[in-house]
Amino acid sequence: MSQSLRYDRQNQIKKWEQKRLLISKVSVIGAGALGNYVCAGLIGLGIGNIEIYDFDEIEIHNLNRQSMFTEEDIGFNKAEILTKRLQERNSEINIQGYSEKITEKNIATLLNDTDLIIDAVDNIETRAVLSRFSLIKNIPLVHGATSADGGQIAVITRETPCLECFMNTNRKNSSQSCTDNPNPSVVYTTQVISGLMVENTRIILLPLNKLEKPTPPLLYYDLLSPNRFYHVNIQRKKDCICNEILKNAKLEKPTLEKIKVDLDNRVINTVEKIDTNKNNISNKKRTRKFTLSDFI
Ligand SMILES: [Zn+2]
Repeated sequence: MSQSLRYDRQNQIKKWEQKRLLISKVSVIGAGALGNYVCAGLIGLGIGNIEIYDFDEIEIHNLNRQSMFTEEDIGFNKAEILTKRLQERNSEINIQGYSEKITEKNIATLLNDTDLIIDAVDNIETRAVLSRFSLIKNIPLVHGATSADGGQIAVITRETPCLECFMNTNRKNSSQSCTDNPNPSVVYTTQVISGLMVENTRIILLPLNKLEKPTPPLLYYDLLSPNRFYHVNIQRKKDCICNEILKNAKLEKPTLEKIKVDLDNRVINTVEKIDTNKNNISNKKRTRKFTLSDFI
């Protein structure tokens, strides 16, 4: 199937470069409601390499918000079923699902080579792990959270306050997930927030013009407010752990500049590799990362 035909409508957008998305790798943590809609958006964008982590099983009360799952999926692992559904919709991209809980101990191994991390989890403990790792590794983190009355979204980089500057990661029962401690939730708030998360992913990986900026901490979506959407200007907390992490961080480019340069270089290097190795390219299938060969 032709990659150019599949993405024809978005390729018509001015300055759209599908190849940048096809060589990118995004890690989605959480395959629940947000993870379902975010992943549907990522394969629609044509992110070439996606990995999904979730250790939960599908339950009947998930189905009203987690639209990629069916009744027959109940009892199976969320990340694995979501991966299967996504592959049915787009077999040309590399999607891997893992029944794995992301922790302080395994995150450096599992997310080492990713370009962008999506926070679609349901517990504050994992959010803190993601936030710290994204700062240490200088990887952008797209954070989203929802409730029955709205939600919030932010893109976290070394140049913004971190998640722990505005979320209380020390509160009691912080490790409880929504399975142990369910909160009211409804499908449409998830759809709104996940759409913004996908939009921000595209802006980070494929900025189309200088006016487009990722959403800084913190954008609220609030059904109880006449404005619905509003920004709250969060400041870095003086006693937050991010100060210590950034003090020890190596001198590197700002996060968004770094990812742009990384992707630029990867595009150039891939072109050079293709030029010297044309005969081998067509034999490589879905197990390898996407390169320029897939759409030339
Ligand atoms: Zn902080």
